[in-house]
Amino acid sequence: MKHLPRVLIVEDEPAIAELIQVNLKHGGFTPVLAYDSVAAQRELDAELPDVILLDWMLPGQSGLSLARHWRKQERTKGIPILMLTARGDEPDKVAGLDAGADDYITKPFSTQELLARIRAVLRRRAPESPGDRVTVGALVLDAATHRIAWQSQELKLGPTEFKLLHYLMKHPERVHSRASLLDKVWGDHVFIEERTVDVHVKRLREALGPAGAMVETVRGAGYRLTGMMAKTPAAAASPES
Ligand code: CA
Repeated sequence: MKHLPRVLIVEDEPAIAELIQVNLKHGGFTPVLAYDSVAAQRELDAELPDVILLDWMLPGQSGLSLARHWRKQERTKGIPILMLTARGDEPDKVAGLDAGADDYITKPFSTQELLARIRAVLRRRAPESPGDRVTVGALVLDAATHRIAWQSQELKLGPTEFKLLHYLMKHPERVHSRASLLDKVWGDHVFIEERTVDVHVKRLREALGPAGAMVETVRGAGYRLTGMMAKTPAAAASPES
């Protein structure tokens, strides 16, 4: 029998929770309901879901602090979290992503959008198997520990930049178009514009510091990660000094 991905819905408003539950069932998922953080934790302890849909505003412990907590736990840190936020809560979205959420969806949302987002986080998570370690030049990424280092110095990256770099590192020296990056990194490009890729590439370069030059822009084609730069002695690159 085909495995129907298990989705834990943490939402305190019964009408919304039940609507999501019905839609997920029709969409080929196994939904599990929890109306508060205590019930959610109980469900997690009983059986790990494939995805967590986490409402931001919950009585008691907030969705944000739950996301943070689950990210810290060995058992739950790999589960994709999709945050449900209220319309226009920009700081919330940023805080949610910082807390370790994989994506967010703004209420009210359509069933199609919700299903597409869930499938997208599932696809994105799939290639990141535990212990997955990639090296390009002096850059080392460990997907299991979520760590990146350049010349043995640890770098701090946002979740999207991490995924973007992970993908580029798994396919170095190749040119990737924006559309292909959206498809492979974001998982679903129905709701995201291509210039979003440029924004995240810019952030990625900034976060990489001196290694940012490894992410090359290929005019009219897209982006490429090269390991060549790290092999070049720094002295040879500055003849004017
Ligand atoms: Ca709520």
